[in-house]
Amino acid sequence: MHQRSLWARTVVCAVGLAGGAAAAQTPYFQQRVDHVIDVRLDDEEHELHGTIATTYTNNSPQTLDFLWIHLWPNAYSGGETALAKQQFRDGNMLLFYAMQRELGRIDSLAFVVNGQPARVTPHPEHVDIVRLELPRPLAPGATLTYSTPFRVTLPSGSISRLGHIGQSYQITQWYPKPAVYDRDGWHEMPYLNQGEFYSEYGSFDVSITLPENYVVGATGDFVEGVADNGAEVRRLDSLDALTRLRFESARAEGKPLKGLVPTEFPVSSRTTKTLRYRQSDVHDFAWFADKRWAVLKGSVVVPGSGRPVTTWAMFTGERADLWERAPEYLADGIHYYSLWNGDYPYNQVTAVDGTISAGGGMEYPNVTVIGTMGSDLGLETVIVHEVGHNWFYGILGTNERTHAWMDEGINSFNETRYFETKYGDSLGFAGTMVPKGLARTLGFANLSYGLTDQYSYLLTSRMGIDQPMSCHSDAFSSTNYGTVVYKKTAAAFAYLRGALGTEVFDRAMRAYFDAWKFKHPGPDDLRAIIERESGVDCSWFFDELVPTTGRVDFRAGRTRKGTSGREVHVMNYGDISGPFEVSVQLEGDSAFRSLGWNAALPSGTGRWVPVPAEARSIRIDGVEAALEYDRRNNTVRTSGLLRRVEPLELRLLTRLEQPYRTTIGYLPIVGWNLYDGWMPGIAVHNEVLPLRDWGWHVAPMWSFGEDELMGFARLSRRMGSWMARAELRRFGAPAVVPGWEREVYRRAALVAEARFHRQPASPWSSAVRFEAVDLRSDATLYGMENALTVLPPRTARQSLGAIGSATWKGRSTSHSLRAEVRGFAFDQAYEDVLLVRSDERALFASITYAGAYRYDRDGHKVRWRVFGGNSTDAAVFPVLVQGIASGVDPMRDQLFLSREGEGVAGAQVAELHGGLAGFASARGAASVVTASVDVDLPAKLGVFAGAGVAEDWMGSAGVFVRLPGLQGPGDMQGSIRIPLAATGWFEPGMAYRPWEYIAVQFSINVLNPFALARSAVQS
Ligand SMILES: [Zn+2]
Repeated sequence: MHQRSLWARTVVCAVGLAGGAAAAQTPYFQQRVDHVIDVRLDDEEHELHGTIATTYTNNSPQTLDFLWIHLWPNAYSGGETALAKQQFRDGNMLLFYAMQRELGRIDSLAFVVNGQPARVTPHPEHVDIVRLELPRPLAPGATLTYSTPFRVTLPSGSISRLGHIGQSYQITQWYPKPAVYDRDGWHEMPYLNQGEFYSEYGSFDVSITLPENYVVGATGDFVEGVADNGAEVRRLDSLDALTRLRFESARAEGKPLKGLVPTEFPVSSRTTKTLRYRQSDVHDFAWFADKRWAVLKGSVVVPGSGRPVTTWAMFTGERADLWERAPEYLADGIHYYSLWNGDYPYNQVTAVDGTISAGGGMEYPNVTVIGTMGSDLGLETVIVHEVGHNWFYGILGTNERTHAWMDEGINSFNETRYFETKYGDSLGFAGTMVPKGLARTLGFANLSYGLTDQYSYLLTSRMGIDQPMSCHSDAFSSTNYGTVVYKKTAAAFAYLRGALGTEVFDRAMRAYFDAWKFKHPGPDDLRAIIERESGVDCSWFFDELVPTTGRVDFRAGRTRKGTSGREVHVMNYGDISGPFEVSVQLEGDSAFRSLGWNAALPSGTGRWVPVPAEARSIRIDGVEAALEYDRRNNTVRTSGLLRRVEPLELRLLTRLEQPYRTTIGYLPIVGWNLYDGWMPGIAVHNEVLPLRDWGWHVAPMWSFGEDELMGFARLSRRMGSWMARAELRRFGAPAVVPGWEREVYRRAALVAEARFHRQPASPWSSAVRFEAVDLRSDATLYGMENALTVLPPRTARQSLGAIGSATWKGRSTSHSLRAEVRGFAFDQAYEDVLLVRSDERALFASITYAGAYRYDRDGHKVRWRVFGGNSTDAAVFPVLVQGIASGVDPMRDQLFLSREGEGVAGAQVAELHGGLAGFASARGAASVVTASVDVDLPAKLGVFAGAGVAEDWMGSAGVFVRLPGLQGPGDMQGSIRIPLAATGWFEPGMAYRPWEYIAVQFSINVLNPFALARSAVQS
């Protein structure tokens, strides 16, 4: 079982695993690069003009004929770069549709190697990589120097992380930089937003010339003895004093701290200055320049060596009130990360206020850029996280493109530990990002900070759409990059730390730091040190938790009298053969106390664990350190009835899942349709966040029109990418039996559906759905109470169907193909109040091809659609020209306000079948073929045209208005369609009155709050 389920869950993460595994036998070596750069900022043309000389030492056992060089500013040169493609895939179209003035590039290159002009060969695929052909091969142990002038046209800062917004500059990944050559070979890679870094270590000597009134935050220390540097040190000190004075006087005068410094750019000085920075043992150099920045200087003593480190905070007036505490965050970050992992080895750390991207931040050696933050805690989180990258990225230079979890993930683990250590339980879950009021409403104000990581992971894991931590950066969906790389890894390391014990874990991490600082460690290197220092086999972690999506799920089983005291049977229901902790609540105790950790338990097996005789309640993982998939089966009481049943809790709306409680949510609801009138009711459900494998809801509603109980219910079960569900619905409708006026129907359905899209990087996805529907209705004579009714007529209708679809989503084009087959059986009794039975059968089949082309950055599209459908009996189930509508929905597949096809309420159609607006929706034929096209215009408007054959030619054209927020399945969106012209299909001699054929195209089904919640997580 263990093998099978692990196998089933080891989802391929594909993409780019090729380069990694090959030459692991070669002993470790590391190239060395030493750069000297001279650069001038032109803040009118937004350009950099510079020269670079790089001394490259070949420490590999191979002779090199060429060097791969990254020219990453070229990532911004147009819509065809790898960056543009990655952003487009994630729905960001800025670069793809960027205007000429927003683009960036690097040019004016002329490489010289050891004084000899050298040729460069373009990379076959990527414009931001070139191959520098060495005039002479570089032998093992030998050194060469190459140099080139360069010009960088700075792109718009809104695109990614290099660029400018006005005269605020972020200069990152800006110079020609050699790709890493290591024991696995070359690692040339295009610039991407996700998983940016892998670079060679060495030193930088960088001189930056720019107008005198800029403030600069950069990698490295000021070189002593340089005239302008001395003046700059004095200027920064006086800016620090000025900022403190401003804070003080603003406070004294009761003025807001927010607008402390002006937000407009002052005019640039005519005179320039040249600042010179130097730094060794780093693998990158970034700098940031802004004329508006206020400066706060501070210092911190690193705990190991007692060496002082200077901290710099540079910020605009936008949120000066928050930035006042930035020096504290910098100092605390440096302190705790040094304490747990090893001393910060550099002399300064800087955080600058990046006015560029909203939210988030970005790490570079010694200097980090922080996006605009809305709260104290938000700013502290991002500063600490980015400063922490000095360890997990800067000092321990793992290849982030292939092992992002060792960079973002281990850093996130330290970040969580920082907040737990500094604030204890006082912060809670609510501290993270959610307003306090909402946190109380959803009931998670009191959940521990550490559980945020676990819950974030469960968000995608419970949907069956998570990916293994070890995937290549570019193989992750952007959601999984957050929930898996950051959060699951953080939670997994908390689990590892719990299992090994903090002391052993910290010793191992410090040994890892000492052995691998300023180097390129991989997963095996980390594992070897952890296993060596702990003396414990960690295959459950490195072979199971890291490379699979297997679940951790322990369960507390029976208890019995043991040899001394009691014993509890612990079952490993999960896929990971990991260790576990046991806590107990003793007689008279209110809290649980930990009994410590137990050795790894193989998946699918159980073990008796001794507990004290006076244990009243026993809880597996009471310390909440394991990555538990389901905590509700973790507790067992030693006496009483229902020992494993968790206490029940009733809650309005819903809430975040409670680890040791079963939550039942309720929500007052009200519905309306033409037949039942107003229907107040209540929805009772078990849906919590993150969604669970089993879901159910029951919603009884009282119909004032019928004076009867109506409503709906559903039970669903998720199994990986499959979802099975049973649905029940009861409402009023017009009778299908002629002569009778209305009916009450009961629709029961069994549905199984699956979505296949396990490789988020792939443009292909597909889905299948099987459905069996059973519909029973009782018709009633309405308004004819005196008529003799022996028995009300009944109808029974059944359908069995299958729908398959495949979608291909390219960059600006998408195609989807959908095929549907359904068989119907109708059985009507007492037709026309005569004792007549009629059995009718029909088979329906259709194929729909739809495509769309996105023609601008706002997402406006041209859509086209071709439909062909055939029914063996149009009287039973016609193929519709316009779409499933109120008038024709024999299986009650859709919810409609009215089913008469008349009046305002009857204008509603669901876009299926022919899709031609401008024709009575209720009309159909045995065979229909249509083709139509929609063109988006600005402001939610558009035009449509279509034509088709259904007994006769017909066509229509008109305008539509999109209804915001009403997104149907696939690419469908709610709209109001107003036909302006139509031809064919009208009674002879009758005038065509377009206003009678206005259609409101949307499906009420998408308004279901449960469906909304699911699709929000899925997209
Ligand atoms: Zn990060």
